[in-house]
Amino acid sequence: MVRLIQYLCPQRHCIAVAPYDPARTSAENALSKMKEMLAKLPINPWCGICGSRSLHYEDRVTIFKTMDEAFPVLMAEQQRQIHNGQIVKRIAKAEMN
Ligand SMILES: [Zn+2]
Repeated sequence: MVRLIQYLCPQRHCIAVAPYDPARTSAENALSKMKEMLAKLPINPWCGICGSRSLHYEDRVTIFKTMDEAFPVLMAEQQRQIHNGQIVKRIAKAEMN
């Protein structure tokens, strides 16, 4: 089964996510690669929604048997989260004005 590593705040707002297939790579390797990827991105070390700096990684199994099965669902969820993030930013900006 495909597994998912999430980078979360205590309220479970997800900063980043990375799926992996344990038949192809270890959990340690998947987490290491995710940390390397995040280190290269210009992301803040806090939650953009609640502001928490207590971020952690969580590794859980998904309902997907293969990456091919998981990928389209995860991509659709990513688009939904990007859209939601843009709404949150607009609301925050409106509240400051
Ligand atoms: Zn949060």
